Amino acid sequence: MAARFYEPGVIRLEQVEVPEISSDELLVRTHAVLTCGTDLKMYLRGHRLAKPPLIIGHEFAGTIERAGRDVRGFEVGMNVVSANSAPCMSCYYCRVGQHNLCEHLDEALIGFSSPGAYAEYVRLPGRIVKQNTYKIPQGLSFEEAAFLEPLACVVHGEELAKISPADFVLVIGAGPIGLLHVQLAKAYGAGTVVVADTSSERLRLAGELGADRTADATEDPVREIKALSENRGADVVIEAVGKPETWQLAVQATRKGGTTVLFGGCPSGSMASIDAEAVHYGELTLRGAFHHTPRDVYRALRLISSHQVNVAPLITHRMPLSDVERGLRLMKDGKAIKVAFFL
Ligand SMILES: [Zn+2]
Ligand SMILES: [Zn+2]
Repeated sequence: MAARFYEPGVIRLEQVEVPEISSDELLVRTHAVLTCGTDLKMYLRGHRLAKPPLIIGHEFAGTIERAGRDVRGFEVGMNVVSANSAPCMSCYYCRVGQHNLCEHLDEALIGFSSPGAYAEYVRLPGRIVKQNTYKIPQGLSFEEAAFLEPLACVVHGEELAKISPADFVLVIGAGPIGLLHVQLAKAYGAGTVVVADTSSERLRLAGELGADRTADATEDPVREIKALSENRGADVVIEAVGKPETWQLAVQATRKGGTTVLFGGCPSGSMASIDAEAVHYGELTLRGAFHHTPRDVYRALRLISSHQVNVAPLITHRMPLSDVERGLRLMKDGKAIKVAFFL
């Protein structure tokens, strides 16, 4: 059984063949798969890499059903989690150590070029088995382990943020990614973490997960941030929404000499205008942040398994995969932070 995307707004639950695997691949019986903002975007608008009908979903965990004969370190019956991609290790970017920018990530991308995990069985391409697949540590549930990929992206962004002890950090957006950023910013030593969002419910959860203060983004969050910092602005601002307006807001809320991490991906073709004077005379550092490297994935696994990052509260709804459309609609209406489908 699998949920296949056909066109924007159309996803169908269907019987499909169990995937065949090559000698370097694994076949995993999925136990939990999480909704991601990308799944929702795909459902609503389609995606340039999606060739329908396509099984979507890339945040998952399960049990090895079959292992290719050349696979080392994994065996049938083992509980595993993997990232959705792995670098090729031979292109220019891989050679210079920027594995998240690998030119060939798209070639084996689960849920895009490779069938995804909204299905009873998912095939892990060889490259992912070798570099980004892990046995699930004792005491970690499948749905917690399934946070490996989004958390790896957040780890990547936090490394670029270069948070120093006692820093004043603003996170814009209290969706699943923003809420992971809040927890990691604290883990990296931030003194005060403020979260801005338009939803009071999400802000309440941000408080429970360690945010020191929350700011209502329907008011004037920049003024509030300045008021909290002797009119300077935040040392580090992390944008986790992905809209040109919030990118601008992120830059405005950063203090002179501070760092703005532009984490949320805007729709392609978007242009954001920023205050050139503030960037120049204020010596701002603007950092884009995209995807993850195998090192980020490894760190994410340790952060989840040590419970330094508490992922379980981000799952607001649980339901069988047969309710996939209901789950995606809850995401669309902003009622769910993450939905866990079980199989
Ligand atoms: Zn995702
Ligand atoms: Zn590469």
